[in-house]
Amino acid sequence: MKMIYMDNHATTQLDPQVLKEMLPYFTEHYGNPASRQHRFGWVAEEAVESARNKIAKVLNAEPNEIIFTSGATESNNLAIKGIAEAYAPKGKHIITVSTEHKSVLDTCVHLSKAGFQVTFLPVDEFGLIDLNILEREIRNDTILISVMYANNEIGTIQNISAISRIATERNVIFHTDATQAIGKIKIDLKNSNIDLLSFSGHKIYGPKGIGVLYFKNKFPKIKLIPQIDGGGHERGLRSGTLNVPAIVGLAKALELCDQLMDEENRRLLEYRNKMQSEFFANIENVFLNGHPTQRISNNLNLSFLYVEDTALIMALKDVAVSSGSACTTANAQVSHVLKALGLSDNRIHSAIRFGLGRFNTAQEVDYVIEKVITEVKKLRNLSSYKSKKVKT
Ligand SMILES: *Cc1c(COP(=O)(O)O)cnc(C)c1O
Repeated sequence: MKMIYMDNHATTQLDPQVLKEMLPYFTEHYGNPASRQHRFGWVAEEAVESARNKIAKVLNAEPNEIIFTSGATESNNLAIKGIAEAYAPKGKHIITVSTEHKSVLDTCVHLSKAGFQVTFLPVDEFGLIDLNILEREIRNDTILISVMYANNEIGTIQNISAISRIATERNVIFHTDATQAIGKIKIDLKNSNIDLLSFSGHKIYGPKGIGVLYFKNKFPKIKLIPQIDGGGHERGLRSGTLNVPAIVGLAKALELCDQLMDEENRRLLEYRNKMQSEFFANIENVFLNGHPTQRISNNLNLSFLYVEDTALIMALKDVAVSSGSACTTANAQVSHVLKALGLSDNRIHSAIRFGLGRFNTAQEVDYVIEKVITEVKKLRNLSSYKSKKVKT
């Protein structure tokens, strides 16, 4: 059975072109970039610096603003804990959003146990924060605002330029988790008010275990306290021997995303819209979760009311999608994102996330449309759906 992968918010398939670039750095060029005394080290260092330059170029940043980490989870931890530790003498208040990824939320919870105060902003029914509420919550002791660029469950894109402008105007450092936005939304860091930005290799058709924290080099200089101590790699901000093949791969993956962005967004949007309209036309009681338009191109989060998410996932068999209830981890918790939208339990327990990607084909899309329509109808016939009073 050939599986169809439609879970591209969880991870993506490594692009063969990325793998090709990485391979020599596993085999012949295995040097440690920190080895300054021989050619093996120089070759590895050159590869790392070339990757850093490429990443900086795509994002319109300076190479020395790019810090390599093990992924977006670590980047988020470093950004939030690193700023909190550096600015604690100035204030201990942090603002973030209730729909953030766990790597932001749990980091903030950790800090709140260590004496920081965290405001978790609410979102509206589409997943957007209210800028007036943000303005109101900023205090004299607010040191950091962290708002994700695009949500990994519902795809909603926050108004990052307005949010980061407010932060800068109020003299508060601004961080964004851009893991789902990078490669899909053009980001120009020099012409932005973003101070710190996190992303990951494996969400952009690159390798797992590699990520970036962009850290703006501005005047007056922002302080960041490293969270991993050691040999002083990455300008002392993140010690540990650099993962050279993964760094080379991440840079290639980002370059490819940048080159393909317009074409890919157009294609995925077409697939997404087709799926959405076919489901709405052929199945009753379907609801869209997230923002109808302010949403990344590859995301489709739908509730098929009165069809248990897990039952539909089982029935789909050869189609890999995600449920709304167990999104980020292995534990079957109710999605904190869908809950934050204020959705009913019925909506939450019937939510399915389709995450389209580079390697999905038009045939796959058609197959999934057919399959989902058939299985939803079958499951509803099995259940007492018809006798149920429909309530959203
Ligand atoms: C996947 C993801 C992360 C975590 O990235 P890792 O590199 O797997 O640690 C963080 N934030 C968002 C929005 C994500 O989608």
